Amino acid sequence: MKLDELILQYEPQIRLGCFLGIFAIMALWEILAPRRQLSVTKSIRWGNNIGIVVLNSVILRLLFPAAAVGMTAFAQKHGWGLFNYFQTPALLSTLVSIVILDMVIYLQHVMVHAVPVFWRMHRVHHADLDFDVTTGARFHPLEIILSMLIKFATIVVLGPPLVAVIVFEVLLNATAMFNHSNVKLPLRLDKILRLFVVTPDMHRVHHSTEDDETNSNFGFNLPWWDRLFGTYRDQPRAGHENMTIGIRSFRELKDCAWLPGMLSIPFRGKIHDYVINRRQWDDDEN
Ligand SMILES: [Zn+2]
Ligand SMILES: [Zn+2]
Repeated sequence: MKLDELILQYEPQIRLGCFLGIFAIMALWEILAPRRQLSVTKSIRWGNNIGIVVLNSVILRLLFPAAAVGMTAFAQKHGWGLFNYFQTPALLSTLVSIVILDMVIYLQHVMVHAVPVFWRMHRVHHADLDFDVTTGARFHPLEIILSMLIKFATIVVLGPPLVAVIVFEVLLNATAMFNHSNVKLPLRLDKILRLFVVTPDMHRVHHSTEDDETNSNFGFNLPWWDRLFGTYRDQPRAGHENMTIGIRSFRELKDCAWLPGMLSIPFRGKIHDYVINRRQWDDDEN
């Protein structure tokens, strides 16, 4: 099929082009209508957050050169997965695949908060002291690798069409940049939008230093999973302007904003009680 060949051939260009285009739009929007004042200068934050994105892209290219679309083509060739086994109308298999991939990302996000060793990696995303378009792509390389392996497993079981995988990748990237951006949306518009997509106000709650707030709104793309699985929270208690963003135990610039500190976060501190096995609340622990 011609479209599939085009997708396989131009996958890096399609993704990079969409990333740069949406990044530019959101960056400009943040300048024109910011939601909160940043606590760390943009040059430090952007230099280091984009630094980790470049590092992750290089690592992914080296480890998995064919990426998710390559795994999709491989599954197709071998007849692996639900939609490669059962004949299904293309539109239906595409839509169902996108929705299921999104649900898996939601469940993965809940898992990295619940399992202490995975939370250590995911802390890099949450240790950002501010919340803007670059936060959306700021993940530790180990978490990026874990995400790719989970995506591969999902593809092998699901057997999605190639177009579904590339649309999902672009969509997830776009919505992650949108819902992490420091933009001000009219409250009424936000209310309507968050019925269909995770909005910045909805995801900002998830970046609160408050445990119960950070353990809500796990969705990255579709907002329905949080409502369906009972993890939805409307607004932060302190309000969007006054809430504290980040993790209580990581407040230093060298840990939270500079690349070497960010990369070392998973290996810092003792493996101990985070949420799932916590029995007591302790103010100076995360
Ligand atoms: Zn999270
Ligand atoms: Zn986030």
